Amino acid sequence: MLEIRFHGRGGQGAVTSAQLFAQAAIMEGKYAQAFPDFGPERRGAPVAAFCRIDEQPIYLRTKINEPDIVVVLDPSLLQTVNVAAGMKEQGVLVINSAKKPHHFMGQELSQVATINATQVALAILKRPITNTVLLGALAKITTVVGVESLIDAIERQFSAKIAALNVKALQRAVAETLVLNKDDCTPAELEGCSGLADIATAVAAEDLPKADSEYLWGELEPGCVITDAGNAKSFRTGDWRSFSPVLNKKRCIKCGICWIYCPDIAYREDEEGFYIADLDYCKGCGICAQECPVGAIHLEMEEEAGVI
Ligand code: SF4
Ligand code: SF4
Repeated sequence: MLEIRFHGRGGQGAVTSAQLFAQAAIMEGKYAQAFPDFGPERRGAPVAAFCRIDEQPIYLRTKINEPDIVVVLDPSLLQTVNVAAGMKEQGVLVINSAKKPHHFMGQELSQVATINATQVALAILKRPITNTVLLGALAKITTVVGVESLIDAIERQFSAKIAALNVKALQRAVAETLVLNKDDCTPAELEGCSGLADIATAVAAEDLPKADSEYLWGELEPGCVITDAGNAKSFRTGDWRSFSPVLNKKRCIKCGICWIYCPDIAYREDEEGFYIADLDYCKGCGICAQECPVGAIHLEMEEEAGVI
């Protein structure tokens, strides 16, 4: 089984990366799963997503704590997140960075791939959404999923115009990603490598805010309980959604199942008793459409959607 952990920031498409990679694997006849690590999912917040691929059915449902491959969508994450945590011995790092792979290579890694994904994304997508660029880098270093399958998955996921841009970004990453194999390094070269472990150690040793510090909890009221959408009402999470749930009121039987299943508690009951998704918080995951017993919800690509 191949286990991949994606680290990104809310809005960069880490979850979509995992889903697209899994989708491509499934289209090749493999078994795959992809899921996010839920947390404070506001735009810019560190997020993680996981992808497992195997030739056999996958029954494991846990987070990936010992990944074979770590994909980092935003280099600034190295300052706050130990992306190397639990990484398997001789793992692989794929990272959005303008630096050469040597910068990250260390004894614990077998391969490092770097691509200035932000620059590529801005040039092609006009937005710093780096996920499909990193998928191109990932496709370059692994044969588990082919580039053509990834392109198929992208074309299934997005509208034609958006898919074309993302395919272009992916193909450019395949061409431009720099790859370094540890076996190809001379001892002298390895000596000059910084090593991801060193970076991770530096992060762990940083004087980060403690849980009981004023910095973290100072804005919360005493006894505060988070009960509203998106973990907290002020964290509007609807601005990184590609699809919106659309309700067919003629079919709806007002059972409330969509409200129950929505992971973001984004549904509100209107004055007529219909459940309406609050687009300030809906992330377009489609679970409500999947769970509705009468097929009263479908997902539509947002008209105003940008690239992802
Ligand atoms: S699950 Fe479907 S039928 Fe039930 S309230 Fe929601 S939209 Fe209506
Ligand atoms: S698509 Fe449906 S289930 Fe998913 S976040 Fe939006 S309202 Fe909730």
